[in-house]
Amino acid sequence: LHQVGKVYRSGNRDLKVLDDVNFSVEAGSTLSIVGPSGSGKTTLLGLCAGLDRASSGQVELNGIGLNQLNEDELASVRNRYIGFIFQNFQLMPTLTALENVMVPLELRGEKNVRSRALDLLDKVGLADRGHHYPTQLSGGEQQRVSLARAFSNQPQILFADEPTGNLDAETGVKVEKLLFDLNKESGTTLILVTHNLELAAKTQRIIRIKGGKILSDTLTA
Ligand code: ATP
Repeated sequence: LHQVGKVYRSGNRDLKVLDDVNFSVEAGSTLSIVGPSGSGKTTLLGLCAGLDRASSGQVELNGIGLNQLNEDELASVRNRYIGFIFQNFQLMPTLTALENVMVPLELRGEKNVRSRALDLLDKVGLADRGHHYPTQLSGGEQQRVSLARAFSNQPQILFADEPTGNLDAETGVKVEKLLFDLNKESGTTLILVTHNLELAAKTQRIIRIKGGKILSDTLTA
């Protein structure tokens, strides 16, 4: 990110949410972004992942400037490189758990979609919940389906917004393990937003933001 700023237009007022944010992330590393509620963490994650556009500055991913891309090009960069786990899961309510995981595979025109989606559900311990709709799953189970979906395109970078936020301690530990295993086994770069400082301390680097600015950028022991 080079001098990235973000302004939201709300009513007739401009709200500056990010201001002059600069950092780069090494491929294969793990990073947490922490900071108070409303400090701009989710916004920052969305800009890095090409889900939204910076108002100023440049976001570059693998040397590609995201600001210059049109919507189709941006979608193709997301499909190719990025997995995203949303704070509120964002599963499709009319599709079963299995179908939710199948969608990105189908969109990419992959083969053996059903069996691959089943393997992914098995990886997150939900092979027996494939036929359940999101409303028939617990919060932790929905979170794990959303993880399976994010893993499905074997992303180079996985962004996760509060991946353990809604989970009990035991399920949180399981989800953490899945994330760090993916980093170790596949070299997936992991970028988390979290209020959980124990989780943040397990990543290699922590960026603290407040009021849309970087307060500190430190390597963990
Ligand atoms: P939390 O820890 O509570 O999830 P956060 O650090 O992730 O907070 P953001 O969600 O990035 O914070 O929001 C930063 C600020 O931008 C907040 O004040 C929020 O009200 C505002 N904001 C977020 N999205 C929009 C939007 N689409 N339009 C207008 N304002 C927004």
